[in-house]
Amino acid sequence: MALIPAPTVRFAPSPTGRLHIGNARPALFNWLFALRHGGRFILRFDDTDKERSTQAFAEGIAEDLGWLGVAPHAVFRQSDRTALYDAASDRLRASGRLYACYETPDELDRRRKRQLARGLPPIYDRAGLRLTDAERAAHAAEGRAPHWRFLLEPRQVAWTDLVRGDAHVDCASLSDPVLIRADGGYLYTLPSVVDDLDMGITHVIRGEDHVTNTAVQIQIIEALGGTAPVFGHHNLLTTASGEGLSKRLGHLSLASLRDAGMEPLAVAALAVLVGSADAVRPVDSLDELAGLVDLAHVSRAPARFDEAELEHLNARVVQQMPWEAAAPRLAALGIGGGEAFWLAIRGNLARLSDVEGWWRIVAGEVEPVVEDRDFLAAALASLPEGNCDAGTWKLWTDAVKATTGAKGKALFMPLRRALTGLDHGPELGPLLPLMGRDRIARRLRGEKA
Ligand code: GLU
Repeated sequence: MALIPAPTVRFAPSPTGRLHIGNARPALFNWLFALRHGGRFILRFDDTDKERSTQAFAEGIAEDLGWLGVAPHAVFRQSDRTALYDAASDRLRASGRLYACYETPDELDRRRKRQLARGLPPIYDRAGLRLTDAERAAHAAEGRAPHWRFLLEPRQVAWTDLVRGDAHVDCASLSDPVLIRADGGYLYTLPSVVDDLDMGITHVIRGEDHVTNTAVQIQIIEALGGTAPVFGHHNLLTTASGEGLSKRLGHLSLASLRDAGMEPLAVAALAVLVGSADAVRPVDSLDELAGLVDLAHVSRAPARFDEAELEHLNARVVQQMPWEAAAPRLAALGIGGGEAFWLAIRGNLARLSDVEGWWRIVAGEVEPVVEDRDFLAAALASLPEGNCDAGTWKLWTDAVKATTGAKGKALFMPLRRALTGLDHGPELGPLLPLMGRDRIARRLRGEKA
């Protein structure tokens, strides 16, 4: 993929809920695109829906993005920018592209049903355009406020999509979109275009549920005399059984994935690699991930989110986490042991918090599992004198083997059970210096230590 000079991208969530793994995808695709090409990433809250947008959700989304490692270069709120949308709608009105309509939702509904009954496509019939001044005045006298529709040109709109390649939508089959509601509030379509132009957005990367919007928005951009950005529409995420993800699916929210111990890098890697031609694989950084993502490899088919796949990827991310990344996390958990401890146990972690169990085994108390006291007494007698070090395990187990005749599982399992209280776990050799001779000796005697 050739480098694109300094692109500007944006993620434009409506603050009407927290992010889930599905709507984190456009955030990540945009962020990784900016990282890859040395561009800027704008976070824009599409909060023109005053009823459903809240400050708390905006803050929650910012927190979710921060957890993922997405750090916007600038943050905007559409509710601060109404004057720009007013100016743009004035221009569209003046050029005859924005017209007043007075139908109530009921009237529109009845009209749609009549069209369908006659086998006609349910497209708005542009009755608003044909109103006389007298009819308009009569509506006003009745206290009816108009809503405003954009007059679409009945033509094909085509673009080269970053994901889908040649894309086109026939606008002759669309209703003229309502841009402004009767209460004067802006719907999503116009503010998005005005902001994309004003903010110099060069690439709009979003879900394929916006393909039709793109055709409409390209017409609006042209009507405003602007230049359309490059568009890319990624596939949408479904559950493993193929249902769409909705904001109500709380357990797939980023906050709950975080609480369940999922690593942001695992969530991010799965979010952008699932449903693409590139294999899902663990990464050590978003920079590394940015180098792996290619929008042209994103599939046209829906991407399926499988929690088991996330668990598996999470384990791989944790198991290959370098000490530098783990150190501050362990310090925050009050865990010592340094790099030696980390390298000894990371291969046994499914999530980072599992480290606490291994730290307890190294530095806390264990109830030893003792089946053969004599064997353990012989093992204790063979334990080399002095501090344990990297060579202790080999010397010790060779000596135990020589004195007891035990080998293989019969040699190692009783030692593991006595020292850790468990049947499974990391290699014991590197743990011995961390446990220390005294603790080892007490556990071999069957003492809780
Ligand atoms: N607020 C819109 C959404 O969340 C933004 C879509 C876009 O990226 O233009 O779907």
